[in-house]
Amino acid sequence: MSLLRLDHVSAFYGPSQALFDVSLHVEPGEVVALMGRNGMGKTTTIKVVCRMLKHRGGALAFDGQDIARWPSHRAARAGLGLVPEGRRCFPNLTVRENLVAAARPGDWTLAKVAELFPRLEERQGQMASSLSGGEQQMLAIGRALMTNPRLLILDEATEGLAPVIRAEIWAAISRLKRETGLAILVVDKSLKELGLVADRGVILERGKTVWQGKFADLDQLTRDRFLGV
Ligand code: ATP
Repeated sequence: MSLLRLDHVSAFYGPSQALFDVSLHVEPGEVVALMGRNGMGKTTTIKVVCRMLKHRGGALAFDGQDIARWPSHRAARAGLGLVPEGRRCFPNLTVRENLVAAARPGDWTLAKVAELFPRLEERQGQMASSLSGGEQQMLAIGRALMTNPRLLILDEATEGLAPVIRAEIWAAISRLKRETGLAILVVDKSLKELGLVADRGVILERGKTVWQGKFADLDQLTRDRFLGV
């Protein structure tokens, strides 16, 4: 059974339709890259999955349960851990407080997060607002992990970050996959990095799934057609 499954999902912002026909699935332990040019519906799809936006048509299931009517807090409690675009940590709480505030029972502890991101441990007493963009992204990932998710969703995993920090984030994602078998749905602009970590990919074009398959089968023609600039 798929961990996450969307079948023919459509969604609107008021009168304007953003998703027309999105289908995708994430299997347990899998890393899936959600791709597509700007404005094609990646963030909207994530919002629908996390129940921050209601969908109009189609079906959504998480771990076999119909989540179509769930409010967002229920989705979070059921194990959908989101690292939103733009991070959004509590700026006036310390690193440690941010992590503790997110904690829910499970394997993830402050110590485990510190092991994954040693920089966060060094900065644990600092206000989140004083962190660099990369450190804030690490904190956002740490916060999502502290909820003990069953599916980690990263929207623009490394956007706007310096190359060294990007490398640290990708290394952490690879490590999560390898060592914990956590299922991950990830959006990022770097196909190269996605290709190193993703098992499968899904491409959206104007709110529709136009390609999905093994990342290794993503041919140049498809890349040029749907992902080229
Ligand atoms: P990006 O990489 O630029 O974030 P995306 O693939 O995540 O792109 P979405 O943000 O999901 O794309 O946007 C899909 C479509 O929905 C776009 O046409 C966008 O203009 C529209 N859209 C997004 N947010 C809103 C909103 N709050 N109100 C109205 N339309 C929106």
